Formats: sequence, C-alpha cells, structure tokens
Amino acid sequence: MNWTRFGFPAFAMFMLVLPALPLPDFWITQLNSIGLYAIVSLGLVLLTGVAGLTSFGQAAFVGVGAYTAAFLSTKLGISPWLTLFVGVALSVVVALVLGAITLRMSGHYLPLATIAWGLTIYYTISNMEFLGKYDGILGVPPISLGGHSLGSGRGIYVLIWVAALAAAWCVTNLLDSRPGRAIRSLKEGTTMAEAMGVSTFRYKVIVFVIAAVLAAISGWLFAHFQRTVNPSPFGIHRGIEYLFIAVLGGVGHVWGAFVGAGVVKIIEDELQTLLPKLIGTSGNFEIIVFGVVLVLVLKYAPDGLWPFVTKRLPPKRRVKDWGNAEALPARDKPVRGDMLLDVNEVRKEFGGLVAVNDVSFQIRAGDIVGLIGPNGAGKSTTFNLVTGVLPLTRGQVSFRGQAIGGLSSRQIAERGMSRTFQHVKMIPEMTVLENVALGGHLRSSSGTLKAMLRLDRAEERRIYAEAEKQLARIGMAELMHEQAGNLALGPQRLMEIARALCTDPALLLLDEPAAGLRHKEKQALADVLRQLKREGMSILLVEHDMDFVMGLTDRIVVMEFGTRLIEGTPEEVQASPAVRAAYLGTEH
Ligand code: ADP
Ligand code: MG
Repeated sequence: MNWTRFGFPAFAMFMLVLPALPLPDFWITQLNSIGLYAIVSLGLVLLTGVAGLTSFGQAAFVGVGAYTAAFLSTKLGISPWLTLFVGVALSVVVALVLGAITLRMSGHYLPLATIAWGLTIYYTISNMEFLGKYDGILGVPPISLGGHSLGSGRGIYVLIWVAALAAAWCVTNLLDSRPGRAIRSLKEGTTMAEAMGVSTFRYKVIVFVIAAVLAAISGWLFAHFQRTVNPSPFGIHRGIEYLFIAVLGGVGHVWGAFVGAGVVKIIEDELQTLLPKLIGTSGNFEIIVFGVVLVLVLKYAPDGLWPFVTKRLPPKRRVKDWGNAEALPARDKPVRGDMLLDVNEVRKEFGGLVAVNDVSFQIRAGDIVGLIGPNGAGKSTTFNLVTGVLPLTRGQVSFRGQAIGGLSSRQIAERGMSRTFQHVKMIPEMTVLENVALGGHLRSSSGTLKAMLRLDRAEERRIYAEAEKQLARIGMAELMHEQAGNLALGPQRLMEIARALCTDPALLLLDEPAAGLRHKEKQALADVLRQLKREGMSILLVEHDMDFVMGLTDRIVVMEFGTRLIEGTPEEVQASPAVRAAYLGTEH
C-alpha cells in the first residue's frame, strides 16, 4: 500500500473532525496556535529547508498580514475576506522589494539581511501612530462565513486547519513538479541549475514570496483569532522561534513544520508553568531551554524529528504513469558536417595568470572533439568560457552561426548546448529520474501556481517519459528510482549525461567524464559515447586521460599552460613529440 496516498487524507480528516469531539477548549486553542505556527513554518521549509535560504524575519510578514487585517477591519470597516486579499498583496509587494535587494546575497549576508529587515518592519509597526504603537489595535471583529461568525475557538479552528492543510497540499505538490525541481536545485549552488536553463534568481524570489504569503495568511488568521494585535508577536525573537520550529520538525520536510509546531507549542506551554515553579521566580525560562535544545538538535539531529518517522515507513515509489505520454518538443538539429561551434582566440586571465591564451578550435556537427592536456592546462576554463560560466577576457565564440560570447550559461543552454561537470553536480536526495527530469526544464513550461494546484500532471508525464527515455538510452533505466546520492561515481556521471541529453542538446560538452572511474565504468562510458556518436550527437570531450580519448574522438585539441599545443587527428596527436613531452612533463 502506498501510505502517502492515504496518510494525508487520513490526517486531514482527523484534524477536521476534532472540534466536533468533546475536546476541552484549551486543546482547541492549542491546536489553533499550532496550525498558525505550522503555516509560517511551512514557508520556512520551502525557503530554508529546500532552497537553502535562511530567514529570521518571517514574523515580520506575519505582522504585515495581521496589522493589515486589524487596521482595515477596525478603522475602515472592511470585510475580513477583503483584508486577506490586501494583506497577501501587501506581503507580495514587500517580499518582492526585499527579495530584489537581498536574494542575490550569498553566504551569511542573506540571514543577516533578514534580521535587519525583520527588525525594520517590527519597529515600523511599533512606532506608527495609526497602528496604535506598542498598544496595537483592539477589537478586531471575528471572521464570518455565510452569515455565521467564526468566533475565536472552534469556529476559527476549522478555518485555520483548512488553511494549514491546503498550504501543506500546495507545498507538497509544488515540490514534486517542474518548478519544484528547480527550487530543490537551488541549495546545490547556481551553476548546475543555470546550466539546465533554470533562472535561479527567479525561483529564489518565488520561494521568498510564497513564504511571505504563507506568513501573511497566518497573520490574518491570528488577528481574527486573538481579536487584537500588538507588535510583540512579530519581533525577531518570534522569527527565530519559527525557524526553530522548522529546524526541530525537520526543515526540508512538509510535515516537519507540523511536528515542529506541535512539539514546540506544547512543550513551551508546559515549561511556562513548570519552570517558574521549579526555579521559584517568574521569567521566560523556556526560551533558555529552547536555545539549548536547538543547539543539541543542530548537533545530533540536523534533519530534525520528521525523518525519524519517515525512516520507519516504507520508501515512497513513484508510480509509472507516463507510459504513453506525448514526446516533449524537440529542437531542429544541425546537419552533419555543419559548423557547430567556432571558438576564436578566446582568452581568460585570472589577475596576472593567463589560464587560456588565445585558443581557437572548431567543432562540426556529428564530430567528437577531444580537448586534452595535463592538469592545469586550462581545459576546464576553456570549457567554462564556451558554456558561459565564466566571462571571456577576449575572443569570440559562435554556436550554430550565432555569437554567444557574453551570454549567460542559461542563455547558452537555451540555444542547445548542454554539459556535465568535472565534479558531479546533482540533487542527492532526489531520485535518478527526478535529477534527469531537471534537464527537461527548458522544454516545458508549467509555472508555480499550476504546480501547486496539481494542474501540471499532463506535462509532468511528458517530462518523465523523456527522462526515462534518456536513461534507457544510456542503459540506466533500471536505476531510475534510486536516490541519486546513493549511486557510485560511474552511474552518477552517466546520470549527468542523461540529464544533459534530456535538454535535447545540439552539442554535448563533457568535462572529464572518466575521471575517478574504475576500468569497467570507463568502458561503459566509452560505449555510451560511441553510441551517441552513432546517433549523430556532437560532443566536446574534455579529458585528462589521453588513452580514453584516443579511440573515441575524430579530432583532438591539446592544451598546455593555457595555449593550444597542437590540433589534429588522434594519430597525429599520438605521434607528436611535443604532446608526449607535455604529458611526461619534459622539455620539448
Ligand atoms: P584543467 O581543467 O586543464 O586542469 P583549469 O582550466 O582548471 O585546468 O585551470 C587552468 C589554470 O587556471 C590553472 O593554473 C588554475 O589554477 C587556474 N584557474 C582556474 N580557475 C581559476 C580561478 N577561478 N581563479 C584563478 N585561477 C584559476
Ligand atoms: Mg579541469
């Protein structure tokens, strides 16, 4: 039985019938708070757990939603349903502005920036005369639905939990989709995702906006649940608490947000009554306990609590439903012998070091060209210049008759160049099939909203059919359900080739695909490359291992110290004393 198919509906059903049972009001109130916390933490699961963008400032967005609701309903008498719309719109605007400024930051700068704007929004709210300063706004009306007032207990419970469960459903759907794969690739750095045609900045902004909207919805519910707002629940300490909930529950897992919210809320309550009794004076001692627990969790269970549950459940297996899906659109292919890639005197200087010194070579359609040379010769740098990962210092590159020098790696990918990496770049926790499906990004178009509402299934089937086809093409179809991170290096490198093929490239660029492979794996790789050549694929093969390229290539370019030493057929290169000297490291 596939537990995931029944787990979610069963949980949803259970949560929604609870208020009909004779459960004490205290627990209904607790569950209301848990739902509100979980909605915000779900945003952090996406933002921090999945996309790797740490934010301490989510409480500020909760404040935006809550204050919009409180102000508009009490001062202007606007209906709560309209204030929800305004609050969400406002949070989108604020997130877009903040995201545009901060999401290009890397490393520790982004979390620091989230603290900064979290404080800014908090103090702005706290100091506005019309928002009641530190006293806030009293007398927020209850939400009414079809003439019934939802009040603030069992009535609003259903609304809170419908919102929380709907949010969980949307986020779960999103993670299993075209935009979801792009979002999941963000944590591994931008190079690979951009090479697959993903606009990493765009998806960072998208997850940032989604997290802000979820926070604002929670704030709107909170305002009508508490019936009053004041600045204190929207400060930075609460922002840290939301992050704590997500990390404790299992940041990166949708249900981790719920587990974390439940555990934190219940323990917090117990500690708030227990600790002052034990210690003998009142104070926020629970915060100290949480601080210690957070450090312990980060040290001993960095994946949080939810993985302890999933470990005990049978693994999820994707049901193959793409058997007769229509093929994805394909690009016009070059005719064999056409000029495909023309690299003309490209140069790259790193400070004083000339890594690539006016190198030229060409590739015609249908050829396999080897780019070889000893370590440090400038092969990878040349490769990165051609694929747009590094900007040229000088020189021109044209691809299929168009100048591509100066274009980004994403724009070059759009034009039909696809690549693998010297150090395998993948999303280890996704399956082989999902990793390869990322290669289909540019050949499909489903957006975030469509994915959240699961209206993207027809296109998803086409993407998976293509991914399986490319895996079968290189003889890896039976590994498609494996987790990519569990594969050996050989299959991982082949998986990268399948991912590149999934983009439907006109030129395939492979950076040291044989490096680190065992003899058998090298042979398997050589077979795959020979087969691709037979099928008419054009390949630029960067390689350190001279023997590997000899039997495979039509032409070879040899580099040494950044310059082109010689270009010729494998026989000519093999016979060259200069090449032998370069490889032996002797004078020539
Ligand atoms: P290969 O792939 O042939 O082993 P590379 O292209 O990686 O060689 O490197 C060529 C030279 O450029 C080396 O001397 C290397 O140290 C230098 N180099 C490569 N990348 C950078 C960089 N980002 N900054 C500075 N120097 C670099
Ligand atoms: Mg290299």
